[in-house]
Amino acid sequence: MTVPTYEKLTPPRQGTRVTVDANGRWHIPDDPIICLLRGDGIGRDVGEAPGITTCAARVLDAAVEKAYGGKRRIHWFDIHAGDVAREMYFPNVKDEQVNALSEDQQRQLYLPDDTLKAFEYYSIGLKGPLTTPIGGGFRSINVYLRIRFDLYACVRPVRYFKGVEAPNKRANKVNMVIFRENTEDVYCGIEFKSGTEKAKRIIDLLREMGYTNVLPSAGIGIKPMSPEGSKRLIRMAIRYAIDKKLPSVTLMHKGNIMKFTEGAFKDWGYELARQEFAAQTISEDDVYKGGDAKGKVIVKDRIADSMFQQVQLRPDEYSVIATPNLNGDYLSDAAAALVGGIGLAAGANIGDRAAMFEATHGTAPKYTGKNMANPGAVLLSGVLLLEHMGWGEAANLVNHAVESTFAESEEIAQKGPGGKLFVTYDIARQFPGYGEKAGVSSSAFSERIIHHLHGG
Ligand code: NAD
Repeated sequence: MTVPTYEKLTPPRQGTRVTVDANGRWHIPDDPIICLLRGDGIGRDVGEAPGITTCAARVLDAAVEKAYGGKRRIHWFDIHAGDVAREMYFPNVKDEQVNALSEDQQRQLYLPDDTLKAFEYYSIGLKGPLTTPIGGGFRSINVYLRIRFDLYACVRPVRYFKGVEAPNKRANKVNMVIFRENTEDVYCGIEFKSGTEKAKRIIDLLREMGYTNVLPSAGIGIKPMSPEGSKRLIRMAIRYAIDKKLPSVTLMHKGNIMKFTEGAFKDWGYELARQEFAAQTISEDDVYKGGDAKGKVIVKDRIADSMFQQVQLRPDEYSVIATPNLNGDYLSDAAAALVGGIGLAAGANIGDRAAMFEATHGTAPKYTGKNMANPGAVLLSGVLLLEHMGWGEAANLVNHAVESTFAESEEIAQKGPGGKLFVTYDIARQFPGYGEKAGVSSSAFSERIIHHLHGG
């Protein structure tokens, strides 16, 4: 691939590009260049006030330095999207002019060609939250990135941190990673509005095929799911479980009703496990029949409605969950709520050639420039990035330091009101007798995590 030239970007002078070979293997140098989209709202730096992405990057740098003593180092490459990009590349375009632009021109306002070229070339990035574009044509930066770079797996780890108030009394048993298929299912956007010519044609065809129970006035949505699309997602989930020595992969589906889509997803999952991971996996059925699961990942399946009960009642029985798009959308937010909400929910969109790591919350505009928001979700997305690069030592250091920081404040709060906490306002206000004002700044919180990285 030729080295891109940019209108307004300057790549780091040092550092080496991450590459992915024809077999899908990622090659991570010790000095990788990683794209950094700091984001809008609480993501951006304003004057002296660092945004949450900057705070998170500082912790990640400190963890890498501590883990590898200078042998490894990330070189961040600042690239831009969202309002920040629009201000930088098209400062003179007014809001009222946006709707008159073509869809691609609207895309360029929020996702400039420079950004796409950089991400295409460097393949890997960490992203803060972005404002959703105004205008009717170009709707979503995230969806565009997903499609353009075929980021087919949305990966969401959900785990409990001691010290964070969680509504579920079994929250401390939650430690799961959800792999949600990102490109198929009802999200393909094939929908026909009630009463339109296209809807009528489809309904006529269905009636010709004998499906007379579809009313002529119905709106129609299509749910395509393929063996290729399902298997590549499930393959990633199984590999993850094997690499991390996790006990099981659960295929979550609604195949009792939607047999040829969700049911097929389940069947393709078992087929893939038999064909490609026979030595490392065993099905739950085979375990029931007396098969030896020692050292193997158990592949099992659960119907979606039962899964929602299971993650609440017996969360410790689920470690990796692979699921189609719509189920995954619901489950990842519901599971995040189990452990205290999306404030700490990390995520990643991963494909075979590119990966973007990102928090799942938005830009919380009212906190812009206040150095108040919680950098935890971006930071934990950075942990996923480190894990993806195989830098597990640094990832573990961050996880433990975040745990220690929460636990320390919980201990102080348990002694009664008035103690000095080290967490941001959103966590501080959960402790009895403490309000938002007891929280520290985003930068002080991240400094405290760094303090714990070095042993406290
Ligand atoms: P939001 O997540 O930005 O904020 C909702 C509330 O959650 C905030 O008011 C704040 O109280 C709290 N909050 C969120 N993140 C926090 C953090 N890190 N620390 C402390 N408190 C936090 O949701 P919204 O208000 O619906 O959306 C605002 C903007 O963000 C919109 O433009 C929306 O489209 C966009 N958005 C972007 C993404 C993304 O880029 N991935 C995701 C969701 C929303």
